[in-house]
Parts: sequence; C-alpha cells; structure tokens
Amino acid sequence: MENNFGKILSQNEFSQNDILKLLSFNETESQILFQKSREIKEKFIGKKVYYRGLIEFSNICQKNCFYCGIRAGNSNVLRYTLTEEEVFNAVKFAYENQFGSLVLQSGEQSNEHFTELISHIILKIKELSKGTLGITLSLGEQTQKTYEKWFAAGAHRYLLRIETSNKNLYQKLHPNDEKHSFEKRLECLKMIKNIGFQTGTGVMIGLPFQTLNDLAADILFFRDFDIDMIGMGPYIEHEETPFFQYSQNLSPLNERFFLSLKMLAVARVVLRDINIAATTALQAIDAEGREKALKIAANILMPNLTPSHREDYQLYKNKPFINERKLDLASLETKINNIDLEVARNEWGDSQHFKNKNSQK
Ligand code: SAH
Ligand code: SF4
Repeated sequence: MENNFGKILSQNEFSQNDILKLLSFNETESQILFQKSREIKEKFIGKKVYYRGLIEFSNICQKNCFYCGIRAGNSNVLRYTLTEEEVFNAVKFAYENQFGSLVLQSGEQSNEHFTELISHIILKIKELSKGTLGITLSLGEQTQKTYEKWFAAGAHRYLLRIETSNKNLYQKLHPNDEKHSFEKRLECLKMIKNIGFQTGTGVMIGLPFQTLNDLAADILFFRDFDIDMIGMGPYIEHEETPFFQYSQNLSPLNERFFLSLKMLAVARVVLRDINIAATTALQAIDAEGREKALKIAANILMPNLTPSHREDYQLYKNKPFINERKLDLASLETKINNIDLEVARNEWGDSQHFKNKNSQK
C-alpha cells in the first residue's frame, strides 16, 4: 500500500496540513496509519497496559459547560459525594489487585473545604497503599495554591482537558462568563505543568461546530504545549444539556468513533512517547472501543472503581459499566492478552515523555 498516504507517515515532522490529511483517511487508508501508530507505541512504550483505578468522587459541579450531563444547571441530577469509607474501600481494592495508580475525578468545586478534603484523601491513599499507588487528579480549575497543596500531598499527575484549542469554539461550548474562560483554562494548565505535575490534556471529538482543521490544530497544541499525557474521546450528547439541540447536526456515532481512533493514532505518531488513555466514552459507542484504542495507540486504561452513584455521574448518555456489580479483572486481562498486550502490575506507568524530558535537563 505504498502511495502518497504512506509517504506522510514516513515523515518525522508534521504540518497542520499533513495531520488534516491523516485525519481524512478512509477505512482502508487508515489501516496504514493504525499500523504505524502501533509500531511507534511498541517502540517507545512497549506492550504494557497501565491501570488507573477511576474514582468518581463527586458530581457536584459549579460550572455549566453546555455539553455535560452533570452541569450545575441540570436539576435532574441527584448530587452526591462519596464517603471517605467508600473512597478508601476502592483504594484498598486497587492496592490488593496490584493496580499501579488511581484517578480521582469530580465535578469542579473550588473552596477551602474541598481543597482540604482532597489533600486529606491524597495523604490517606499514600498511607493505605504504603506509598505505592500513584495518583492522578482530574478536579478541574483551581488556584495555584490548591494545585501546590495537592502536589505536596503526593498527587503527581493532573488531567485538565482543554476541550478544544480553538478559542472561538471553546466559547461556543461554554457560557460567556469568567467561570468559563478559555484563558483561565490555559492558565491552569500552565500552572499544573510548572508545579511539576505530569500534565495531561485532551479534547472532545465530533463536537457541534468542530472541524477537522480544529482537531488537527489540537494535535499541534498538544505538541507545542509539550504535554505528557492525553485523555480524549468522542463527544456524546446528553438529553439534559443545552447542546442536545444540535444532535441533528452531529456525525453518526460510528463516524465519531472512527475519527476518535484516528485522533489517538495521529497523537501517537506525532507525539510518540506520551501516555494515551483508552477512554470510557469510546466504550459507550463500541463494546470493544477501549481494546481497539489500546491495540493501536493507547497504553492507559481506567477501570471504574466508583462503588456507588455511578448512575449519577453521567457526563454523556449510555455511559457503560453503570450496573457493573463487580469489576471482572480476569476477563479484562484476557481481553488485553488477546490483543497481544499485557497488564502491568504495581507499576505507576509514568509518562515516558515526562521522564525523557526531565532526564535531558
Ligand atoms: N470537572 C472536571 C473533570 C470531570 S469532567 C473537568 O471538567 O475538567 C471530565 C471530562 O469529561 C471533561 O473534560 C470533558 O471533556 C468530558 N465530557 C463532559 N461531557 C461530555 C460529553 N457529553 N461527551 C463526552 N465527554 C464529555
Ligand atoms: Fe462540571 Fe467538568 Fe462537566 Fe464542566 S465538564 S460541567 S466542569 S463536570
């Protein structure tokens, strides 16, 4: 299949136009993209899949992002915060099952009480796991002081999606007020990086008003920001949000899924040694979505450990695993082995990119 398509992939540097071409590949053409991305993953990362046990700590949120099911304005949501006991039981499960890390995610809350509560939980996770569990936070925009506190307490990775690197599009996705400012989001991402967190970001794919060119620019944004980790997946509409009104204008779910796989593969080809998550939203569209992502580009999986209230943490509709009673780790591992990958045990699986750039300093 050596042709023009293949040629782009043999380059080491990629322009926005090159990326646009890769993202436009049809099913047949994209097979060479996926093959290339697989080779690069194997070369820079290897065959290991790192688990991050996901704890959806609270669905209380002070923001009103137009696309998100748990936005403050959705009065149908039953609001919850997990008890400490629930969190620590999930931590014990992760520890006993040799997970390398946890992700603590929540609706955005910025206040003294929340800051202290999270610090306390971070310290306790370290204590319960004898320092072995790595901690990623995904708790939205906070002050420099709060980020510093959480870093000092022992969290070492932070995921804050930019959602889109196009400021105009960002403004369409959010209310026009200081709580939802593109500049503030970017500023927070910079703070996170400067404090020393391994820094993760990402975008939603297939949003209303989003073009392929926007997505190509997103990849360059990740590169230029020197990002360490990526979590991105398809946008999936939720009935109880203002953006549901654009459902008719969206591409079909299977196309959004295919485009998401291409985005992951292009991110791997362009950024090489970063960590890439196989996100749950992929699974909401395709029962084997996460495995497909792991096979070609991703190396991180976030099994959901939230012990209760999963039905109340629906950012989008058809969220998978809502009724999962017990996480079946054996069958998950079999699925991973079946795609010729292996589950890492008791390893943090830090971003190789982060390690490489720090060893060069
Ligand atoms: N409140 C935090 C973390 C929880 S939301 C924050 O916003 O950063 C985590 C991510 O869920 C968001 O960054 C967004 O990209 C994603 N998300 C929200 N609504 C979604 C939807 N309808 N479809 C797909 N992803 C969505
Ligand atoms: Fe809140 Fe995050 Fe949803 Fe925005 S995306 S409404 S900040 S939970």
